[in-house]
Amino acid sequence: MAGFNQAPCQGESIMAVVRRFIAGARCPTCGAEDAIALNIEGEHEWICCIQCDFREDKPKSPPATAAAGDGAVQIIQLDG
Ligand SMILES: [Zn+2]
Repeated sequence: MAGFNQAPCQGESIMAVVRRFIAGARCPTCGAEDAIALNIEGEHEWICCIQCDFREDKPKSPPATAAAGDGAVQIIQLDG
């Protein structure tokens, strides 16, 4: 990539941050489209806008609970 623009939403250790732009996302602050990037640094995830100073932590989604095998025991009578 040519150019080395200084984005306002760079982390402290940018080398370890994975940035993915979210297609179609609109910044709630400045309203720019396709300007929201998801940043991943280890287990820390946050979103930021490259057009303004918007930055927000992305809470980790709660762990999915298993639907099957949740307490209900079905008794099957075997005849014979
Ligand atoms: Zn913005």
